[in-house]
Amino acid sequence: MRSSILIIYTGGTIGMKTDAETGALVPFDFSGIYDEFPSLKRLNVDIDVLTMSPVIDSSNVSPENWVAMAELIRDNYARYDGFVVLHGTDTMSYTASALSFLLENLAKPVVFTGSQIPIGVLRTDGRENLITAIEIAGAQIGGRPEVPEVSLYFQNRLFRANRTSKRSAEALSAFRSDNYPPLAEVGVNIAYNLPAILRPEQTSPELRISTRLARGIEVVKLFPGIGEEILRAMLSAPGLRAVVLETFGAGNAPTAEWFIRLLREAIDRGVYVVNVSQCGSGRVSMELYETGLRLQNCGVLCGYDMTTEAAVTKLMYVLGKELPDDQTRLLLRKPLRGEFTP
Ligand code: ASP
Repeated sequence: MRSSILIIYTGGTIGMKTDAETGALVPFDFSGIYDEFPSLKRLNVDIDVLTMSPVIDSSNVSPENWVAMAELIRDNYARYDGFVVLHGTDTMSYTASALSFLLENLAKPVVFTGSQIPIGVLRTDGRENLITAIEIAGAQIGGRPEVPEVSLYFQNRLFRANRTSKRSAEALSAFRSDNYPPLAEVGVNIAYNLPAILRPEQTSPELRISTRLARGIEVVKLFPGIGEEILRAMLSAPGLRAVVLETFGAGNAPTAEWFIRLLREAIDRGVYVVNVSQCGSGRVSMELYETGLRLQNCGVLCGYDMTTEAAVTKLMYVLGKELPDDQTRLLLRKPLRGEFTP
């Protein structure tokens, strides 16, 4: 069966080509995608392209852009079998994580990709990333999508989007998913890791999107020597609603009385604090050491093996629902889209 795919181009390096006359990088017109890549006609897919306006460098992406992307997917959901989102690599993991939360009851593939080298440059990595992302978005097994979740494809590997981080500003394999295996590995064939892929319940309700993302999130990365006054200022910032606390190792932090007191005061004021490890690989276990136990005892939530990108966007999503405290904590304590393994 032929699949129909909507490509949503948001901006980033993948959308640039070298102007033949001036040699400067100019935007690539994705609506001419078949002219540029005639080989795409050989894939068993029909492709439409939508360009978001304005296209942005992903360093400028905002929660409003994420909602606009979710709305675009919702509005086109019935007409397409899958979606490919072309995005700058710098913040792709944030956007893709945000979309994994905003798209509720998703049952179709949404594959993010981009490139380190512009698509119009001879040695680009964008051509392969784009073509394989399209193939994955259109892949079906028994009439149902092969990967019905928000994923990120880069350099031969497909990841769950909310498990990724950009880890290299240079290498073509720019993304890593240290705490969750790839959903697919691409060689001569595309080898899907079927047990790792999230599938909706048989009776899953219709796609819904959330359009409210909370502001007031802060990331506090600990370092030896972090000062009391600085931490106090950070934890009493006006409008603060939640903190992603990037701790040492398996979720450890200083045990100094002032440190714990400042955290406890913030939590008592209603600020949610989620503990993630700044190691990237591995997980937070707050009961392992005294230094983690203190955090747990003052109400810090365990982020398990979640990335900072997933923690930030999950907090925006969950707090955007404006639920009572007990329900908010319940949503923060359980994985909603496979973003952590408890
Ligand atoms: N600055 C670009 C962006 O993130 C880099 C890229 O696309 O790789 O939009």
